[in-house]
Amino acid sequence: MTARILIVDDYEPNLKLLEARLSYEYFQVYKARDGRSAIECAVALDPDVILLDVMMPGLDGYQTCEILKANPKTSHIPVVMVTALDGQEDRVRGLEAGADDFLTKPIDELPLLARVRSLARLKGAIDDLRSREASSRRLGLIEDRERSFSPTGGRILVLEDNAEQAERLSSILSDEQHVSLWRSNMDLTGAFNSGIDLLVVSLLSPQFDGLRIISSVRANAALRSLPVLALTNPEDRARSLQAINLGASDIIAAPAESQELRARVRSQVRRKRYLDAMKQALDQGLELAVIDQLTGLYNRRYMMSQLRPLFARASAGAEDLSALLIDLDHFKQVNDTYGHDVGDDALREIAKRITACFRPLDIVCRFGGEEFFVVMPGTKRADAAAIAERLRRHVALTPVRIREGLDALNLTLSIGVASVAGHGDSVEALIKRADEAVYAAKSAGRNRVIDQKEALAA
Ligand code: GH3
Ligand code: MG
Ligand code: MG
Repeated sequence: MTARILIVDDYEPNLKLLEARLSYEYFQVYKARDGRSAIECAVALDPDVILLDVMMPGLDGYQTCEILKANPKTSHIPVVMVTALDGQEDRVRGLEAGADDFLTKPIDELPLLARVRSLARLKGAIDDLRSREASSRRLGLIEDRERSFSPTGGRILVLEDNAEQAERLSSILSDEQHVSLWRSNMDLTGAFNSGIDLLVVSLLSPQFDGLRIISSVRANAALRSLPVLALTNPEDRARSLQAINLGASDIIAAPAESQELRARVRSQVRRKRYLDAMKQALDQGLELAVIDQLTGLYNRRYMMSQLRPLFARASAGAEDLSALLIDLDHFKQVNDTYGHDVGDDALREIAKRITACFRPLDIVCRFGGEEFFVVMPGTKRADAAAIAERLRRHVALTPVRIREGLDALNLTLSIGVASVAGHGDSVEALIKRADEAVYAAKSAGRNRVIDQKEALAA
C-alpha cells in the first residue's frame, strides 16, 4: 500500500530521517518546515497522513492541528502528533486538538509504519465517501451544511474478561458514554449487530483471542467500519503491531490511563459518527437519484457518470470497454393489447433477466422507456456480442409469464453492440454507434444482435 505523507518538522535532520524511512517503504513524502507552510501544503496536496512535530517556532503543533481540523478542506486528513515529550498530558492535549494519534521521539520504526498504514487506510475510506458525497452535492442531493459530531454518548462494547479491569474501564467511561461489558455467555454476533459505535477489546484476555476478534470484525462486511480500540500489553510489541496490521483503529497500553482512554474513545466515537452520517446521506441521496423506480436498475444519469471515467481510461488505451443498447421489440403492442400495468410487469421481468446475464462490475441501466444500456468494462466487442446473443436467445426462448389466466408474452430484443475506438472517440459517439446498431437490427427484422461494424456495412 502506498500513500502520500506530509511530514512537518523545523529540524532538518528529523525531516531527512523520516523521509528516508518512509520513502524506503515506497510512501510518497512531502515536507514542511513550519506550521504555516504545513497548512498551505495540506490544502494544496490533500495528503493521506500528516506527521506533525509538536515543538516548532511560530505556530506549534497543537495550534497547527487545530487550524487543520477546523478547515473543511483539511479536517478529514489524519494527523499524527510527533512529540519529544513522553508526558501523558501532551498526548491528551494532542488528541484534544483533534490529532488522530501521536508518536514519541525518537521514533520507533515499526509503530511509525503501522500507524501510517492504518491511518492511510482510513483516509482511503474517507476519500471514497467524500468524493461520492461531492458528486451528490453537485447533483443537489445532499444539503450543504456544517455538521458537527458529538464525541460522547457513544455505545461502547468492552471485551475484557478480567472483571476488575472491566469495571474500572466502565467507571472511567460511563460518565460520557454508554458502556456494556462482555460476559462469558455473551452472543457476540448479536451484540455487534445491535449497533455499537466502538469496540474496546483486550489483547490480554486468557478467555478469548483479541487478535482473532479484530480480524473477524474486519472480515465482516457489515462491521468493517466499526472502530476497534485494542488494549495492549506495552511490553508485547509484536502483538500490538499485529493488532494495528489487522485493522485495529487505535491501541492503548493497559492498564489504560483514564484521561487518555477518554480522549481516545471520544475521537473514535466522533470519527464513527462522521463516517456514518456521510454514508447515510449518500445512501438516501443516491438511492433516489440513481435508481430507476420501476425496475430497480440504475438510471441513465448514474450510468453516464460511471461511463465517463471508464471511457476516458479505455480510450487512452488502458483497457477494453464495450456497451450494449437493448431495445424491446414491438413493445407498444404489449401496452396496447394488455394494458400499461402488464407492460410495467414485463419491463420488470426483462430487467431481471438482463441483470442476471451480467457480472457485478458491469453497469446495467434503464436507458429510457423500453430501452436498456449495459456498460461492460474490460470487455472486447466480440465477447460483448456473444453475451448479448446469449441474452437475446434466453429472452426469445422463454416467454414472460405475468400472471395466472394471461397468456405468456413472447418478447424479443434487438441489441446493438459498440466498443471504444481509441483516439478521437467520445461517449456520445459510442452511444450513437450502439443506437445505429439497434436501428440496423430493427431494419433487419428485429430479435437480433448487431455489432457496430455490421451496422456500418448495412
Ligand atoms: P420497436 O420494435 O420498433 O422498438 O417497437 P416498439 O413498440 O418497442 O417501439 P416504440 O419506440 O414505438 O414504443 C416504445 C413503447 O414502450 C412505447 C411505450 O408505450 C412503451 N413504454 C415505454 N416506457 C414504458 C413504461 O414505463 N411502461 C410501459 N408499460 N410501457 C412503456
Ligand atoms: Mg425504443
Ligand atoms: Mg422498442
